[in-house]
Amino acid sequence: MLGGPGSGKGTQCKMLSQRFDFTHISIGDVLRQEINRPGSQYADILRENILAGKIGAKEMTVSILRDEMLRWVAKGTRCFVLDGFPRSKVQCDYFEQLIGPIALLIVLDCPEATMMARLAVADRNRFDDNTTGIRKRIETFQKTTSEVIDEFRGRGKLYSVNSDQEPGVVVLELEAILDGLVNKRTGLCLDI
Ligand code: AMP
Repeated sequence: MLGGPGSGKGTQCKMLSQRFDFTHISIGDVLRQEINRPGSQYADILRENILAGKIGAKEMTVSILRDEMLRWVAKGTRCFVLDGFPRSKVQCDYFEQLIGPIALLIVLDCPEATMMARLAVADRNRFDDNTTGIRKRIETFQKTTSEVIDEFRGRGKLYSVNSDQEPGVVVLELEAILDGLVNKRTGLCLDI
């Protein structure tokens, strides 16, 4: 699932993972945890990237994500909802080559003014949630995600929902989309 900062990705992924048998992984959260992991070889560069709202090297991001996914697979997870991934076409290709297919892409559509207003009142206590940080992330989002969106549109696997609505309304729309595509009990996509 992709969407700009404040578009509601985290909230929606959480709700979807309760309605379908998905494990929710927020790549932003996983990267922030990695910064705090003692002995991490990536901590400094990650802190720099996140402060600048930038996407780092694909090898680093996908390797950290893969380790987190494998921990869940060991506990029995088969399907994931990846919150904030893939952020670029390069990441998408690399992930699919190394790990497996991405069944579909959901984009949360939200006007910039709404995202800024939400983040201004949100109590997220994140070190990149200041006005400059938010602007940079919106900019990166707009630059790098359009190629991912085009890729999934070409595959016929792009679903877009207006997230400038109450979370409860947005999730109903998402659920309606996924109901036709995913087995609710197993979380598996019907055509994969
Ligand atoms: P988020 O929690 O989704 O708002 O992401 C916060 C920050 O984490 C971003 O500004 C990036 O620096 C980093 N990040 C999130 N997702 C990715 C990704 N797929 N690849 C690389 N960096 C990411």
